[in-house]
Amino acid sequence: MKIALTGNPNSGKTTLFNLYTGSNQYVGNWAGVTVEKKEGAFSYNGQTITLVDLPGIYSLSPYSMEEIITRNVLINERPDVLIDVVDGSNIERNLYLAVQLMELSVPMVLAVNMMDELEARGDKLDCGKLSRLLGVPVVPITARKAQNTELLLDTAVELARTSSYNPRRPVGQIQYDNTTSRVIREIYALLWEQPKLRGLPLWFYASKLLEGDQQAIQALQPDKKMLNKIEALVKSYEATSFYGDRETMLADARYKAITDIVAKSMVKRGGENSLTLSDKIDLVVTNRVLALPIFLLMMFLTFAATFGPVGDFLSEGIEHLLKNVLGGWVTARLDAAQAPGWTYGLLVDAVIGGVGGVLTFLPQIMILFTCLSLLEDSGYMARAAFIMDKLLHKIGLTGKSFIPMLMGFGCTTPAVMAARTMENERDRRLTIMITPFMSCGARLPIYALFAGTFFASHQGLVVFSMYLIGMVVAILSGLILKNTLFRGKVAPFVMELPPYRLPSLDALGRHVWEKCKGFLIKAGTLIFSMSVVIWLLQNFSWSLQLVEDNAQSIFASIGKAVAPVFAPLGFGNWQAAVSILAGLVAKETVVTSMMVLYGAASQAELAAILPTVFTNLSAFSFMVFCLLYMPCMSAFVSIRREMNSLKWALGTALFSTAVAYIVSLLLYQIGKIFLL
Ligand code: GDP
Ligand code: MG
Repeated sequence: MKIALTGNPNSGKTTLFNLYTGSNQYVGNWAGVTVEKKEGAFSYNGQTITLVDLPGIYSLSPYSMEEIITRNVLINERPDVLIDVVDGSNIERNLYLAVQLMELSVPMVLAVNMMDELEARGDKLDCGKLSRLLGVPVVPITARKAQNTELLLDTAVELARTSSYNPRRPVGQIQYDNTTSRVIREIYALLWEQPKLRGLPLWFYASKLLEGDQQAIQALQPDKKMLNKIEALVKSYEATSFYGDRETMLADARYKAITDIVAKSMVKRGGENSLTLSDKIDLVVTNRVLALPIFLLMMFLTFAATFGPVGDFLSEGIEHLLKNVLGGWVTARLDAAQAPGWTYGLLVDAVIGGVGGVLTFLPQIMILFTCLSLLEDSGYMARAAFIMDKLLHKIGLTGKSFIPMLMGFGCTTPAVMAARTMENERDRRLTIMITPFMSCGARLPIYALFAGTFFASHQGLVVFSMYLIGMVVAILSGLILKNTLFRGKVAPFVMELPPYRLPSLDALGRHVWEKCKGFLIKAGTLIFSMSVVIWLLQNFSWSLQLVEDNAQSIFASIGKAVAPVFAPLGFGNWQAAVSILAGLVAKETVVTSMMVLYGAASQAELAAILPTVFTNLSAFSFMVFCLLYMPCMSAFVSIRREMNSLKWALGTALFSTAVAYIVSLLLYQIGKIFLL
């Protein structure tokens, strides 16, 4: 049995999906998080249920990618039953989608979510009445606390058992005004006359043809005669109203019916105009003068926490465990077995040192993601996007880009995917090109290492400056691209602000655990194998001889060939050049390869070596280069996929590397003048 979850963005579909399937899909308190359909299976009372989580949408009109994806899944893969998840605290707007879904003739249950918020606000919803008026089962739930969610599933399964898709009737019983109902019925009758169309959800298509939906016309391929008849019906419909516009008229009819139903089934606690707590917080947070300083303060506090004493203390603990306990144990084993000298190098220096060098930063990564997750789940990040939109709009960019950009603080790969919410192909490409400049979690070990070594007393501030530089470079290069490659009008952006919510500890825990698990897996696989490969390449010569001095190694010769390119940026030594190349696989491997190349067994040892090779200025320039140069392999693959073009992906990589080079060059050369 196949059940699909539909609903507006941010209504709680993914929360419900995770609850039923036990998976850990991304839940975020803002619109546009789920951009792809996700499927999961679970067993329920002995039968297998396939659950599909769909991107959130406001309407079934094909205006954005999410709407098209959802619509196609619903029509082509026709689930047995729909669970339409509506946000109970915003029911009118949510029902606008519900009444369109009902036209698909697929049995549907309405899940009224966020009952906790509705109740806290003092509103009352009579679900029995709502159900009678709509003609579909209604189940009130609080997905986040798993309240009534069993009942919801029971209802859906039962509904699928007792009824099925019947294209001759829409689901439920929405009454529009007489004229609208009549036109839809007449278009439906016209379509039904065509035997080849039977079986399709014709009620849905009838209302879409009334709206003038081009995709519906393409899907049905009505002949000239039928099209003329439909157009004549629409003409007569438009003639009955002052608006005289089919789309507006139908939307108006829908909202009228919905308002009527809600008025009959919901009692809102008086004083609708009074400010909610959310509104009051927003008066300060999105205030014209205070907004930007507050945003910067939030980011600064995040990094101050990340590089505060707690993280350092835990880091040192991990380092001690790895180096002294594990390293010591392995060394003792090797001594006992009288193992050859190179095994120490491979196991102790390369594997424990290289992987450990990255693992030491696990606490910082954990704290960073806890902070980001709190900011996001509380609803603050949505405000950040909203604030930045105002700013970006002034310089001709769309604020919609900022959602993927903010997600880029986590990881570039999903952030690039989030650009799908942009309707305009030009804006989408532009966003994908600048998102990698936003500093992702994988770059954190590099900053932590360098900032800790060279700027110990201002770690938080220096790392904060990296994030700031990333953001400024992203915006400036967006501006340049917009005025060269991607000229065009800026699409207006209406951003919906979710209410502030107390972040749930459970969701927070899952989120952070997912990130840490991902990091640990990466350390155990990719970074592990990279440290072995790096060790091999720096201990063997081209003739595959074990070398005494690693300046004779394969890596040294590659590094020496590339190094001069980086000399003007302040780090022309071959080890730095090789680390940058290794960072193409994953940015963490910059640290791994430094550990291996400088023969450091621990982060502390490396911290003693680095100042002999870098100055403060060249260290900063190196950090900036690592921040900006082309993103890692997996991000590259996702950029290629999202842009659907290898050429564009290569262009993006080249672009970011060029930007990185220029910025670091300027920083180092200008910095040299001032520091002399
Ligand atoms: P989706 O966009 O429809 O997939 O929505 P999500 O599942 O990502 O949830 C959006 C936000 O609503 C998240 O911050 C959830 O924690 C929150 N949320 C989900 N269900 C409930 C609920 O029943 N009550 C409250 N108060 N918040 C909820
Ligand atoms: Mg979702």
